[in-house]
Amino acid sequence: MKNIQAFKTLIDRPQKVVIVTHFKPDADALGSSLGLAGFLKKKGHQVQVITPSDYPEFLTWMPGNKEVLAYDKRPDTLKKVSGIIAATDIIFCLDFSTLSRINDLASLVGNAKATKVMIDHHLEPENFAAFEQWDITSASTAGLVYELIEQVGERNLIDTDIASCLYAGLMTDTGGFRHNNTHHREFFIASKLVELGADPHEIAKDVYDTNTLERLRLTGYVLSQKLNVIPEYRTAYMTLSQDELKQFGAQTGDTEGLVNYGLSIKGVKLAVLMYDRKEEIKLSLRSLEDFSVNEMARKHFDGGGHRNASGGTSKLSLEQTLKRFLEILPEYKEQLQK
Ligand code: 5GP
Ligand code: MN
Repeated sequence: MKNIQAFKTLIDRPQKVVIVTHFKPDADALGSSLGLAGFLKKKGHQVQVITPSDYPEFLTWMPGNKEVLAYDKRPDTLKKVSGIIAATDIIFCLDFSTLSRINDLASLVGNAKATKVMIDHHLEPENFAAFEQWDITSASTAGLVYELIEQVGERNLIDTDIASCLYAGLMTDTGGFRHNNTHHREFFIASKLVELGADPHEIAKDVYDTNTLERLRLTGYVLSQKLNVIPEYRTAYMTLSQDELKQFGAQTGDTEGLVNYGLSIKGVKLAVLMYDRKEEIKLSLRSLEDFSVNEMARKHFDGGGHRNASGGTSKLSLEQTLKRFLEILPEYKEQLQK
């Protein structure tokens, strides 16, 4: 952070703080937010974490989860969220750097008079915050929160609860320390967090090994019936309709990770999962090496993310979205065949 002294001054006096995650927060968005919330509470701030939507059941073990305010589109929640945002002194925006990623809350946060702090590691940020801890070379936002706490010289305030939330974000955004964003820096932070009380086994169990039977059946169905490969384009794709998701009683988060199976097929360089989220079609894109799904998601699906992991949306039907995806593939043929 460039203006670190001013930031220190800002957080050294107890204030009203709101922390906002992106829509459908993952473990990094929620873990970095709850970790930061724990830290700021210890410094005497009054802190409210707000999520622009619900989030997966496998994240509810996180310390502080019970106090999260999840915006659910109901008018009374909107009123509550608006009231809190209007009255707050500081808004932290975690794990996103474009306001469109908080959907219905974008104008509330964008127009708020509060001082804004953005902490993120996604490509192509917008300029809306007075303070930025933005670094695309960091694998996780949780890692950036850890480093910011170090920078203000208050590592001693990190307890087991804070360390566990941050570790969860770091673990998941590196795919369990396996993705190509996993470097010495990530292991260094992980080591510090474990030293401060995070339990790698417990956290991995809570996040990865706490499935519902329905979720496993959905995975089985996708792998056996819905996984398609186009060898010519080294591409794997999967689609899931509303009916299919209903059939397996799919809950928020149940589709997380499915796209990685596509990418694990030998020879595949690009994998996509498209599913019907009712209000829109959601796309999850993954790639290997220098093929940029960020570019693809930005150009064609109103999205973005990282070079090898991005997401986007489509207002077309599921069938039309797939058709569109297949139509754009020739544009990338040369890069995919490399
Ligand atoms: P996932 O496919 O797991 O939902 O997301 C992969 C990456 O892309 C994550 O870093 C996520 O934050 C980002 N991402 C997902 N959906 C969107 C989107 O609609 N817009 C943008 N800009 N980024 C997204
Ligand atoms: Mn992240």
